[in-house]
Amino acid sequence: MLHSNLPMRRYLVAAWLLGCVGGVAELPGAAVDAPPGSAVDVGPTPDGGLVGGTLDVAWMHGAADCAANADPEVQVHAYNATTFILRQNKCRTFEAPFIYVLVGTTTALVLDTGDLTTTTLRTTIAPLVGGKPIVVAHSHAHGDHVRGDATFAGQPNTTVIGTSLAAVAAAFGIATWPTDPGSLELGGRTLDVLAIPGHEATHVAIYDRQTGLLLSGDALYPGMLFINDWATYRTSMHRLALFAAAHPIAHVLGAHVEMTSTPKQAYPYGSTYQPAEHVLQLTAAHVAALDAALAQLGATPQRRVLDDFIIDPQ
Ligand SMILES: [Zn+2]
Repeated sequence: MLHSNLPMRRYLVAAWLLGCVGGVAELPGAAVDAPPGSAVDVGPTPDGGLVGGTLDVAWMHGAADCAANADPEVQVHAYNATTFILRQNKCRTFEAPFIYVLVGTTTALVLDTGDLTTTTLRTTIAPLVGGKPIVVAHSHAHGDHVRGDATFAGQPNTTVIGTSLAAVAAAFGIATWPTDPGSLELGGRTLDVLAIPGHEATHVAIYDRQTGLLLSGDALYPGMLFINDWATYRTSMHRLALFAAAHPIAHVLGAHVEMTSTPKQAYPYGSTYQPAEHVLQLTAAHVAALDAALAQLGATPQRRVLDDFIIDPQ
C-alpha cells in the first residue's frame, strides 16, 4: 500500500507479555505466540522437502474504538522456530504492515521496518534472532515499509540496505535490473531475490528455499494492489508467475491485508478496524491468476476486482 497522509491516530498501548521461542522475556508493546508445543522442525529435511510452519494465528486487526484498544504495538507470530511474521497495530497505523524475520545459521533477515518510528520493532526482533547479525532489507521503498529504518541504523551487528535501486541491486547481487536473479545467503538458508518493479521501482520478492515462502510485499497481497507503472508491473508479475510455477510454494505472503473474508469485498482505504478480514496467505494459484488477469487486461491500465485482491492502477 502506498503510504498516504490520512490522519493517523496514535495511542499508547499497554505493556504486553512476550513469550519468545526457547525462553520467556517481557517487552513492552509486543506479543508473541509460539507455535503449539514449540516442537518445530527446523533444518532442511533429508528429502529436500520444505520445512513447515503454522499460520494458525488470529491477527490483531484494529478496533472500532482505538482509544480503548489494548493490543500491542506489534504482534509476533512464530511460523516456525526460525521464521517470524510481525504485524503493526492498525490503531497505530492503518497500514498495519506485515514484517518478516528469517533466521539462518549465520545471519537474520528483517524484511521491512514498518510504518512506525518507535524502537519497539527493533527490541521485539532482537530476542528472535539469537544474537546473529541482522540484515535489514525492504520489499520496496514506500514509507510504510521503511519508516523504522532509523531505529536499526547504527546498531551493532546490523546492516541496513539502502533504498536506492543501486543499493538494492548490489545487496542482492542483481547484475542487470530487473531481469537477472539475485540472492541472499543467511547460512544454511538461501533466499532467491526477484526484482519485481511496478508497484514501486525498487520492489523485490523474496523466496525462501527452506520453507517455500514467497514474500510478495505490496506487489501481491489480499488487498488493493496499487500499480504505479502498469507495463513494468505486468512484466514483473509474469516473471513472478513463471518463478512460482517452477518452485514449491508453501504460501505467498504479502505486506498488508485489506480484503474482507467475503470475496471481492475490500475494507475502505484507511480502515483502522477489520473485524472480518481475509487471511494473510495466498497461493501460487493467486500469482498465476494475477498474471492471467493482467495478460487479459492488456496494455491499457484497468481496474479489476478478483475474489482475493483488486488490481488497481493509479
Ligand atoms: Zn505498503
